[in-house]
Amino acid sequence: MNKKVVIIGAGIGGLGTAGLFAKKGYDVTVLEKNEHAGGRANIFEANGFRFDMGPSWYLAPDLFEHYFRLLGERVEDHLDLVRLTPSYRIFFQGDPETLEIHSDIEKDGRTFDAIEPGSSEKLKKYLAQSEYQYEVATQHFMYKNYDTVFDFFNKRVMTEGQKLSVFSKMHNFVTRFFKSRKLQQVMEYTMVFLGTSPYEAPAIYNLMSHMDFNQGVFYPQGGFYELIKALVRVAEKNGAKVRTNAAVAEILIKNGKASGVRLENGEVIDADIVISNADYQFTETRLLPESSQTYKKKYWDKKVLAPSAFILYLGVKEKMPQLIHHNLLFSDDWRKNFDEIYKDPKLPNEPSLYVCAPSVTDPNVAPEGKENLFVLVPIASGLDISEERKQEYAYHVLERMEREMGLEGLREKIEYMRIYTVEDFLKDYNSFKGTALGLAHTIWQTAIFRPNNRSKKVSNLFYVGAGTNPGIGTQICLISAELVYKRVHGIKTAEPLTSI
Ligand SMILES: Cc1cc2nc3c(=O)[nH]c(=O)nc-3n(C[C@H](O)[C@H](O)[C@H](O)COP(=O)(O)OP(=O)(O)OC[C@H]3O[C@@H](n4cnc5c(N)ncnc54)[C@H](O)[C@@H]3O)c2cc1C
Repeated sequence: MNKKVVIIGAGIGGLGTAGLFAKKGYDVTVLEKNEHAGGRANIFEANGFRFDMGPSWYLAPDLFEHYFRLLGERVEDHLDLVRLTPSYRIFFQGDPETLEIHSDIEKDGRTFDAIEPGSSEKLKKYLAQSEYQYEVATQHFMYKNYDTVFDFFNKRVMTEGQKLSVFSKMHNFVTRFFKSRKLQQVMEYTMVFLGTSPYEAPAIYNLMSHMDFNQGVFYPQGGFYELIKALVRVAEKNGAKVRTNAAVAEILIKNGKASGVRLENGEVIDADIVISNADYQFTETRLLPESSQTYKKKYWDKKVLAPSAFILYLGVKEKMPQLIHHNLLFSDDWRKNFDEIYKDPKLPNEPSLYVCAPSVTDPNVAPEGKENLFVLVPIASGLDISEERKQEYAYHVLERMEREMGLEGLREKIEYMRIYTVEDFLKDYNSFKGTALGLAHTIWQTAIFRPNNRSKKVSNLFYVGAGTNPGIGTQICLISAELVYKRVHGIKTAEPLTSI
């Protein structure tokens, strides 16, 4: 009899794990509470528009390729990836000049020089460093399970820590290269992807610039949900069962081991191994009895959470030629924006924001001649926002887009709008305090300091997804799947697997 693996949650980490364990021959069942698989990479349709609800930046294609290769698959057989050119456009508050990043060192160098003479040479040096850090991180850090501080503070970190910028802060690192505020913002904005602030993130995360500047920004034609369909397809092809509308109410414990799970409808499913992809805090505090919890309430109360989000899904009855696929608006007071997320939680009055217009690239996601817009304002997790305030704030954000992004008349052109924010993340994904992303990537919540993917109390209970290592991001959650696979099979290597 093959060992039974039950995975709680069909987010990217859960689906990624299902594929690996099913390929190895385990009897795998994924149990997802929602109607769709995909977790935060969810989808919905309304008025002829198809909205990807979460991720929209397909970055680091090599990491996706690696995962599919392990399963004997090729990404190109599953996804029609388009490389976006330009990669993204940046609007600056109060400034009619926009800036486009092409992920082409010559073009981007010219853009940098026009803002800060001589900065193209610095950009080259910066990106060489980002590439080095990306290579070291993906070959020696991210695919490794950490058990003791010595696993992290190993010889490499101690001798190369300075070179790898493990110990300096991102903002300080960036200011060593670029003096203008605009260029600093360009190099720092990706910290939001990691749920952290450039004033807190360790500078090793400048590896993110290797992704957007050197590797380029991609989009799976048909929408980001095509990735989810591919992960489900590959897992099922290898024999995994993915059950939706199957909320787990309890992890059953017998003699310090998980014997299975009980669903909310009372059904009991036996397991030899349980892997939770549901929110880590939720699993520990709500699915386990206190005696089986590795991390208790006090632990979670001290954690720095990544932002939640104030999201607008908009169906617009006209094309918006001012926008390209990815658009960012950077606020004047950058630090205040981050403080309003982490230090003085409130809805920011002058927020930085992100607008995705996938219908610029993809005719499948909006009716002809119309625009599909996804607007995201990062906000503090745990905010309690009344219905009335949500409407008011949506209006405020739209007004700001009209003014700062040249989208005159936008409000009159909207034929569909859905607001999605803190309480929705909590309700839909059991997400701790409604965080959109999980735990922030501060130095004290990275590697050995992030919740471990193995329960210390229940010997056959494991964790996967953004809440554990390596952390936040679609491709990063696939690494997390590989880490749990390594963990269960006692594989201690630091490099990515070459076979399973
Ligand atoms: C708005 C937004 C934009 C983002 N943009 C990007 C981007 O552009 N690029 C990128 O790479 N990443 C992006 N991310 C991050 C990325 O989407 C996430 O890090 C990743 O998808 C998280 O996957 P996960 O494996 O942690 O699982 P989750 O997505 O957290 O899924 C966990 C699953 O567990 C289920 N679950 C919870 N409780 C139970 C239960 N009791 N029983 C059964 N099931 C349960 C949930 O319903 C959910 O489906 C974005 C995230 C958000 C929210």
